Amino acid sequence: PTGEPEGVLVRTSDRYAPDAKDSDRASATLLALVRNEEVDDMVASMVDLERTWNSKFNYPWTFFNDKPFSDEFKKKTSAVTNATCNYELIPKEHWDAPSWIDPAIFEESAAVLKKNGVQYANMMSYHQMCRWNSGMFYKHPALKDVRYYWRVEPKVHFFCDVDYDVFRYMQDNNKTYGFTINLYDDPHTLPTLWPQTAKFLADHPNYLHERSAIKWVIDDTRRPQHNREAQGFSTCHFWSNFEVADMEFWRSKVYEDYFEHLDRAGGFFYERWGDAPVHSIALGLFEDSSKIHWFRDIGYQHIPFFNCPNSPKCKGCVTGRLTDGEPFLHREDCRPNWFKYAGMG
Ligand code: GDP
Ligand code: MN
Repeated sequence: PTGEPEGVLVRTSDRYAPDAKDSDRASATLLALVRNEEVDDMVASMVDLERTWNSKFNYPWTFFNDKPFSDEFKKKTSAVTNATCNYELIPKEHWDAPSWIDPAIFEESAAVLKKNGVQYANMMSYHQMCRWNSGMFYKHPALKDVRYYWRVEPKVHFFCDVDYDVFRYMQDNNKTYGFTINLYDDPHTLPTLWPQTAKFLADHPNYLHERSAIKWVIDDTRRPQHNREAQGFSTCHFWSNFEVADMEFWRSKVYEDYFEHLDRAGGFFYERWGDAPVHSIALGLFEDSSKIHWFRDIGYQHIPFFNCPNSPKCKGCVTGRLTDGEPFLHREDCRPNWFKYAGMG
């Protein structure tokens, strides 16, 4: 079972030409938040994704930055795709820490996080990035008329030829979210994320979806200590440096209310809540779990983890291998939890 998922629209013709008037493309974009100095790593990611997939479909690329993109960045990135490239500046009001965040408390909390070994704890921009990916990116005016996105980071790899339109797959099969890798998180980054979520759920009991994956969210059987330290959250999350998703979910009232609640609680700054656990908890509670899809057929690497299918379409990764890093990293894989509680999606 390594081929394309069922129900795919196989690419037909020149209706996917970069300038096709009567296009088969969904309303979608490849999306990257990236810094100017990461241009060469961004180009490397683009070359992989263009070779394995996008050169067949020509979806536009949309790049976001809190600083204006340089001419060098624009020149190098647009040179490796036939598709349209959009270069967008993030408005200050989407990027800056909100007014209720106290810089002094941020500094104090960062010291505590750092002591607990939390990476990037005192790097303000990292917290801003996580918050922007959690609750801001889909509000950018450049995405106003766009529904689906595929998030791509600099320095990632794609290994397998994918011959169908991934965005049309999402749309035609009514999927909300697609992932490749599931991992446990460091509980020290989010000690109060679950308590805050539980409070929100108590205030909005009707927001819990009747076919949710809540059992996946709160599992305490496989890594009980993670659950304990995270005060009730398994920490198992979709690794969001890869995500293919429908922005209608992020734009829904349920998610907006949830993000607003978390944002007010301050944990994007006083702890280091990542967009991955925030997205994952929201999907696990507020969405029908059958609308979440594992892209087993998309070979992917973001250091130090891989998703590597068993298929002749894949070159350059070892089938089934999660990591070529330290052996203990294998323990971080929690895909089996997802399959246990939510099926194959
Ligand atoms: P990690 O994967 O958690 O180690 O975090 P990364 O350093 O890869 O950052 C995640 C993504 O956000 C990458 O695409 C970065 O290029 C981007 N990013 C992180 N911080 C900033 C920032 O301050 N400005 C911009 N423009 N992009 C950022
Ligand atoms: Mn990264």
